[in-house]
Amino acid sequence: MPQIRVAVAGAGIAGLAFALALRRAGIDCHLYEQAERLAEVGAGVQVTPNATRLLHRLGLQDRLRAVAVAPRAIEMRRWDDGGLLQRTELGGPCRRRFGAPYYTVHRADLHDALLSLVPADRVHLGARLVSVTQSAGEARLHLSDGTTVAADLVVGADGIRSVARERIAADRPRYSGQTIYRGLVPADRVPFLAADPRVRLWLGPDQHCVCYPVSSGRQVSFGATVSSSHWREESWSAPGDPAELAAAYAAWHPDVTRLITAAETVGRWALHDRDSLGRLSAGRVAVIGDAAHPMLPFQAQGANQAIEDAVVLAACLADAGPDGLGAALLRYERIRLPRTTRIQQQSRANATTFHLADGDEQRRRDASTQASPGLERHEWLFGYDAEQATTTSRS
Ligand SMILES: Cc1cc2nc3c(=O)[nH]c(=O)nc-3n(C[C@H](O)[C@H](O)[C@H](O)COP(=O)(O)OP(=O)(O)OC[C@H]3O[C@@H](n4cnc5c(N)ncnc54)[C@H](O)[C@@H]3O)c2cc1C
Repeated sequence: MPQIRVAVAGAGIAGLAFALALRRAGIDCHLYEQAERLAEVGAGVQVTPNATRLLHRLGLQDRLRAVAVAPRAIEMRRWDDGGLLQRTELGGPCRRRFGAPYYTVHRADLHDALLSLVPADRVHLGARLVSVTQSAGEARLHLSDGTTVAADLVVGADGIRSVARERIAADRPRYSGQTIYRGLVPADRVPFLAADPRVRLWLGPDQHCVCYPVSSGRQVSFGATVSSSHWREESWSAPGDPAELAAAYAAWHPDVTRLITAAETVGRWALHDRDSLGRLSAGRVAVIGDAAHPMLPFQAQGANQAIEDAVVLAACLADAGPDGLGAALLRYERIRLPRTTRIQQQSRANATTFHLADGDEQRRRDASTQASPGLERHEWLFGYDAEQATTTSRS
C-alpha cells in the first residue's frame, strides 16, 4: 500500500509528539524546524494525566519518570497572608482516579525525551517555513533557503506565530495585557518550597505566581504574571529585570518574595492567544498545538493539548489510509475542536478570576474554590483519553 507523505513544520512538543504517534501507527514523516539547534529554554511545564497517559503509550514512561517530579498536591493561597484557599491532592489519589500521573517537568527534559525516540534523519534543522502552497494533488512547504518540499499532507506544528495557519485563517495573535516572568531557582535556595513537592499558586489583585519543582527536584520553576500595556516581547530568552519583578511583588507573602528574589536571571514573556478557529485544516494542510489553538497558560494545558492533538491526528490518518485524507482531517477537527475551544475559553476566564482585586467578587471566588477541592472537578480535563475518544468517534 502506498504511504502517505507527511511534512511537519516545527519540532516543538506538538511536532515531536506527532512524529512519535505517526511512527507508532507505521507512518513516516519529516520535520522541518527553523532552529539551527534544538535547545528548549529554562522553564517548567505541568504535564497532566490526560497527556501523561498518552506519553506513556508513546514509549516515554521510563524517560519521564527519570526526570519528572510527581507533586503531592496543588495548593492555591492568598497573595498577602498565604491563607490556604484550596488543596487538591495529587500523587496516589490522582494516579488511582485517572490511571496516570501528574508531573512537573523541565521543558528541555520533556523535549529531549520526545526527541530521543524520533530518528535523527527525520528532523531537519535550520529549515524555516516561509509559506505553504497546495494543489489538488499535493501540498508544498517553501523554506527560507529556497527549498521546496512536496507532501500529501502538511502539518503546521509551528507555534503561535504559525505560517501554516495562514492557509486556514487570516487572524492575528491577541495580546492579553499580561506578561509572565519565568525563572528557575536551585532547590537548595528555597528548601521550604522544594522539600514537599507541590504546585503552589498565590492569587492576588492583577497578578498571580505559580511554582513547582522540576528536574527530579533539583530546581524550582516559577512563573509570575505582571500586567503591562507596553511589553510585547515573545521570546523565551527575552531577559526580564529581576528588580522590576521584585518591586511588582514586594507586598506579597514572604514565600513568594523569597522565591523570586532567589532567581539570578529571569525571562519575561508577553502572553498572547487567539480566538478559536471554526476548522483545523484546509485542503492538505492541518494545524496542531499552538498553531491550532494558542491559549493563555492559566490552565497549564497548551502542551497537554498539543500532545492530545498529535495522538488524535495520527490515529485519524492511520485509520483512513492514503485515500481518506479529507475524511481523516474532518474527523480530527470534529474530535478536537469542542475540547480545545472550551480549554482556550477557560484559560482566558482564569486570567480574570485569578486576578480579582480583594472585595466581594474575590470572596465569592474564594468561597467556591474552598468548597470544591476534589479531583472530581478535573474529571473532564484529566480523565479524558484522547485515544479512546478517537476510537469512539468511529462508531
Ligand atoms: C508561561 C507559559 C507557561 C506554560 N505552562 C504550561 C504548562 O504548565 N503546561 C502546558 O501544557 N502548557 C504550558 N504552556 C504552553 C506550552 O508551552 C505550549 O502550548 C506548547 O509549547 C506548544 O507546543 P507547540 O509545539 O505547539 O509550539 P512551540 O512549543 O511554540 O513549538 C513550535 C516549534 O516550531 C518552530 N517554528 C516556529 N515557526 C517556524 C517556522 N516558520 N518554520 C519552522 N519551524 C518553526 C519553533 O522553533 C518551535 O520549535 C505554557 C506556555 C507559557 C507561555
